[in-house]
Amino acid sequence: MYLRDTIAAISTPVGEGGIGIVRISGPASLPIARDIFQAKSSGGLKSHRFSYGSVLDPASGALLDEAMLVFMKAPNSYTREDVVEIQCHGGALVVSRILSLVVSAGARLAAPGEFTKRAFLNGRIDLVQAEAVMDVISSRTDAALCLAQHQREGLLSRRIAVVKDGILYALAYVEALIDFPEEDIDVAVDTDVLGRVSPAVAELDALIDGFDAGKVLRDGVSVMIAGKPNVGKSSLLNTLLKENRAIVTAVPGTTRDLIEEVVNINGLPVKLLDTAGIRDSDDLVEKEGVRLSLARIPVADLVLFVVDASTAFTVEDEAILQAIGGKCLIVVLNKSDLPRAIELPVGLTAQTVAISAFDGSGIPELRDAIAAAFMHGAAIDGREYVAVSRARHRDALLKARESLRSFVANLSAGVNMELLPIDLRDALNAVGEVTGETTVDDVLDRIFSSFCIGK
Ligand code: GDP
Repeated sequence: MYLRDTIAAISTPVGEGGIGIVRISGPASLPIARDIFQAKSSGGLKSHRFSYGSVLDPASGALLDEAMLVFMKAPNSYTREDVVEIQCHGGALVVSRILSLVVSAGARLAAPGEFTKRAFLNGRIDLVQAEAVMDVISSRTDAALCLAQHQREGLLSRRIAVVKDGILYALAYVEALIDFPEEDIDVAVDTDVLGRVSPAVAELDALIDGFDAGKVLRDGVSVMIAGKPNVGKSSLLNTLLKENRAIVTAVPGTTRDLIEEVVNINGLPVKLLDTAGIRDSDDLVEKEGVRLSLARIPVADLVLFVVDASTAFTVEDEAILQAIGGKCLIVVLNKSDLPRAIELPVGLTAQTVAISAFDGSGIPELRDAIAAAFMHGAAIDGREYVAVSRARHRDALLKARESLRSFVANLSAGVNMELLPIDLRDALNAVGEVTGETTVDDVLDRIFSSFCIGK
């Protein structure tokens, strides 16, 4: 248990709301609460019980607000320290005045993520779980939230622990070998060691393979809707938005000519980029739209190339196809409610989906095709879904796998025996970087500084 000072922050979003919460953590939490809060009922502040009362400035006796206060005695709190939360009226001024009072009474302002950092440093959660807290807060679809909650609960950590156990077992064995060199290598034990390390490697394989799907669930993907004017891009966007608009805060970068919206496509947070029709234009506004559209093609993860299937494929369509280049592409044959007249170029081998933005036919198939392009068949709505979703984790697991492979190769070949413990320690170290056991301080600082204040 770390002995620390006492920190405080506003834990609710800035602005007006029904309630605002000031959170305090550290050894002085309870004395501070007693200083500034007068409970209506006698009997003192009991752990994990709400008290109703008044927040008063101890210097002047002035009433700041009526509030509910809850005290959570260490170690049964978010940080494992004494924690006090004051629920007051949710006005920006009220909350910040109460925070000032708490600071005057002896707390210091918390840095971003400092409460969660304390939970980690005090051993309540590991680093994977701490990072997942942030993902829980920022999740935009049910599937992304489910993934984040599983990580926060420790399901990913448990799988990593299996890997760690395998490595530790092997390390104990090779260290015994080094300590007792006169003993012959016992083949049975040898096989047993491989028997313990191979599942660890297989688990690393599975975790690393799951990264792509995990990452797209966490970070989302951007899908561009491209096509010449009047093929039905806006209609398609509206159809997709109608049922599936994801809950999001403002997306930066939105312009008059380039609309960005996040939709939930089979659990995947998809940022849809609708574009002004890509074509040569003299109109200044449209020109800007065209420029933006073309510029965005490289950053899109997937392009939905919309064509009007009731008319011929034109040189304009061809020009857009050229601009899309080698991008991951789905050809959307829109207006399929009308008689079909289009003939796609023979060289165009991309997947095609026939839809009608007009009557909604083909839209479920299009959604499936978009999800399949990223998830590669992963069952993202499964309750058991556990995956690695951060590049930091994936990179460390790759290092661990590399070291374990080298260990297995050397052990099997009976060469470089002196490297065996080194490889295993490297692997252990890499796995520890994921869970936080061996993560260096500046990486920790970087991770927690990306959190919001008060979390
Ligand atoms: P955009 O310029 O590519 O964004 O195209 P719009 O979405 O504005 O659509 C152009 C025209 O095509 C409008 O008159 C739409 O009503 C019509 N349209 C769009 N989708 C369909 C469709 O699936 N079937 C039919 N019949 N008309 C459509």
